[in-house]
Amino acid sequence: MAAYDDKNIFAKILRGELPAYKVYEDDKSYAFLDIMPRAHGHTLVIPKAPARNILDCPPEYLAHVIQVAQKIAKAQKIAFGASGVTVQQFNERSGGQVVFHLHFHIIPRHDGVALKAPASVQEKAEVLGANAEKLRNALAGK
Ligand code: 5GP
Repeated sequence: MAAYDDKNIFAKILRGELPAYKVYEDDKSYAFLDIMPRAHGHTLVIPKAPARNILDCPPEYLAHVIQVAQKIAKAQKIAFGASGVTVQQFNERSGGQVVFHLHFHIIPRHDGVALKAPASVQEKAEVLGANAEKLRNALAGK
């Protein structure tokens, strides 16, 4: 497997070199909206460790990130009235991975509503901003 490359987009977001619609942050993790969401509220949860994917992630970060994924999933049910949540995670190019910093996709679902194709349509800034705020409010119990 290739070594972690800190020039990937998510590493730049973590360093504050690129903007993101932040939803949640703590000492080990960062969660932000996917800019080409497959559904409203589609969130990416990443570790603050230089992990390419699940194969090289330090176990304590992996364990933490899945707990944050659960928090986000619960908040999505409240913020978007979701009846379900899809969690996806891809490893290496053959496994469907495009950005090589470990990330979990947390996607709110509604009965009978299909997901958009992956990375197909860039969402409008005002929609992403409003959706991030809804999620932050739900996480804060507002
Ligand atoms: P994966 O590596 O799991 O196949 O997918 C990478 C994900 O990153 C895609 O869902 C894509 O929409 C998302 N993505 C690509 N570039 C950016 C970006 O600059 N910012 C954000 N927030 N998401 C991105």
